[in-house]
Amino acid sequence: MSEQPLGEFDLITRYFDRGAPRRARLGIGDDCALLAPLPAGAVLAVTSDMLVAGRHFLPESDPEGVGHKTLAVNLSDLAAMGAQPVAFTLSMSLPQIDTAWLEKFARGLFAIADRHDCELIGGDTTRGPLNLCVTAFGEVPSGVALRRDLAQPGDDVWVSGSVGGAAYALSRLLGPTPPATGDLSVRRLERPEPRVALGIALRHLARAAIDVSDGLLGDLAHLCERSRVAARIDWSSVPIAMQISGLDEGVQQRFALAGGDDYELLFTAPAENRTGIQALSSSLQLALTRIGEILPGSGVQLVDGRGMPIPVSAQSFDHFA
Ligand code: ADP
Ligand code: MG
Repeated sequence: MSEQPLGEFDLITRYFDRGAPRRARLGIGDDCALLAPLPAGAVLAVTSDMLVAGRHFLPESDPEGVGHKTLAVNLSDLAAMGAQPVAFTLSMSLPQIDTAWLEKFARGLFAIADRHDCELIGGDTTRGPLNLCVTAFGEVPSGVALRRDLAQPGDDVWVSGSVGGAAYALSRLLGPTPPATGDLSVRRLERPEPRVALGIALRHLARAAIDVSDGLLGDLAHLCERSRVAARIDWSSVPIAMQISGLDEGVQQRFALAGGDDYELLFTAPAENRTGIQALSSSLQLALTRIGEILPGSGVQLVDGRGMPIPVSAQSFDHFA
């Protein structure tokens, strides 16, 4: 017996509506979702990120990874503000209803949503080129959000985890002998882990923060512009991904400093918080590395271990460049 073609509403019911909402007063199924007001003293953090097949992920990518990443990149923006995830909407344009793809996509999406207690409360579904857009809502106490414009001269510059692994994985996927999508070596690209717990813990330790989605130097430049400061980064202290440590140094720099998609947090903090940040690194079991400092002026300068300038040809990823 052949299966009935699935309509838009069956699709939503089957894959995305999980019954009575836990957080929203009203979830999927009406014209709007209804959310209770935030507790007094909290503000709502809102972010939106779109993933387009062929641009942000390869069309043949493991659908479970695509589901994961669609939400992960938004949770990373909430993390970069120190916000606690609350809920999200999902708007999707699909070329056809591929039930096997949707099932895996939903599995990846809800696995990360549940881990962060972030509830799907609505969305939109249309036919068109594969395109996935999430808007995520988070909560942060008023006055403590980690904004881009709060860095001050004298601050240390820190980065979480390691950088360059995702760009390296992408170069392998696009290379002559690509690993299978879903292969462990491309995990860093397909399953970025948003640093939500770190962002929340940094509310009272860091001053400014940004997530590294377009490349460390480019994202740091955005932070510096917003804060009207300069930064100096010591290349010898940048925590590069293990997979790229054997490569030519110029290539390492390109992956680690200009490669995108790592979704680590780059943040600044006053020097008196060094011990607190190191303690946080142990308690989260996540490397936090001091890679430079904020200075008066403008621009981002890269130096080697002896303080000698390294020319920066590496530009961050710009969709319109
Ligand atoms: P409307 O036409 O009023 O915008 P829709 O018919 O598009 O409503 O959607 C019906 C319900 O299903 C709404 O509650 C909407 O939020 C939800 N919805 C639609 N697409 C999705 C999706 N991809 N994921 C989650 N909820 C969805
Ligand atoms: Mg609609």
